[in-house]
Amino acid sequence: MSLKSLILRQALDLREMVVNFRREFHMYPELAYQEKRTSNFVSKKLEEWGFEVHTGIAETGVLGVLRCSNDGRVVALRADMDALPIQEENDVPYKSKIPGVMHACGHDAHTAMLLTAAKILANHRDKLLGTVKLIFQPAEEGGNGAKRMIDEGVLKDPDVEAIFGLHVWNSLDAGKVGLKEGPLLASTGRFEIEVEGSGGHGASPHLTIDPIVISASIILNLQTIISRSLDPLESGVVSVCSVHSGTAFNVIPNKASLIGTYRALTFNVRDLIKKRIEEISKNVSSAFNAKCNVKLIDGVPPTVNEPRATRMARKVAEYVVGSNNVIEVKPTMGGEDFSFYLENVPGAFLELGTRNEKKGITAPHHNSRFDIDESALPYGVALYALLAYNFLMEGFKD
Ligand SMILES: [Zn+2]
Ligand SMILES: [Zn+2]
Repeated sequence: MSLKSLILRQALDLREMVVNFRREFHMYPELAYQEKRTSNFVSKKLEEWGFEVHTGIAETGVLGVLRCSNDGRVVALRADMDALPIQEENDVPYKSKIPGVMHACGHDAHTAMLLTAAKILANHRDKLLGTVKLIFQPAEEGGNGAKRMIDEGVLKDPDVEAIFGLHVWNSLDAGKVGLKEGPLLASTGRFEIEVEGSGGHGASPHLTIDPIVISASIILNLQTIISRSLDPLESGVVSVCSVHSGTAFNVIPNKASLIGTYRALTFNVRDLIKKRIEEISKNVSSAFNAKCNVKLIDGVPPTVNEPRATRMARKVAEYVVGSNNVIEVKPTMGGEDFSFYLENVPGAFLELGTRNEKKGITAPHHNSRFDIDESALPYGVALYALLAYNFLMEGFKD
């Protein structure tokens, strides 16, 4: 039996291990930068299996290094460990034991799958060439944990030449893997617009500069960014998600604030959207003699899969689940801080199907009833292990 097929078989055989790990992490979820229990669990196992283990990176991050041979390639695999501030509503034996905290995005599964893949890679250390770096990062959910891991050097010494990550995906059936070359996920950003008018009596609007009417005009005009400023063949989002002003029925307030998000699949589109948010907000306000303050705070960059890495990942995915089950997916406008790694190193991010309608597993990510079909976990283990194996042994080939 070839080493490749042995790794696949072992991944499928370690089903119980990966499910147990996942349930352990699921029962004890931890919020961003508080992943102490999880990272202790991970680092103990990695040490037990012969990894060189670095802890406390970006507060709670763990880096496991497996040096298989002195020369050769260096590949990194990444999992995120953080949970969300959501009260779990599933009635399952492995329900979260921490009130108000839940693994509602599936990062418990990512950590469990990468840890199980670590066991397999360690088993075959003497037959592998090069070095594997396993990155268990904190704070993917809005905390930019990936950026801090990079700033603290996880991609250096030895320098990582390729990186792979995956996300459980509840809009894709279990047994399938989603892949796409180029932009897969969007850049994220937050805007805060403050309109400063001049308040007064609701019965004397002519003596005021009404920030509510001005805000209404800004909100409607912001909709023209996507419909009138953006090339119809490009993708972007501008959503006003919070509007606050006023306290009484007969008082025109001084100020109004609008908060929302902008998303794009390319930096060019992101820059255009930001420019138009600022121009529209300020110019509409000035047309009504109001002041306007606009803050634009970038989140993560777009997640862009490198072509050679994506081709290699496609071959690996076809080997694991069969070519019929590897789906060419459309990009989505969610964001992922895996993008920071891809800004530094070529790599690819995969979607692992975990939906199962027959089992009633259909809740979307970040929902209080989110769950995954655990039968998909061994495929994720196989993907992680074989992506590393393939890159170490053959590189990108083309
Ligand atoms: Zn999430
Ligand atoms: Zn996530």
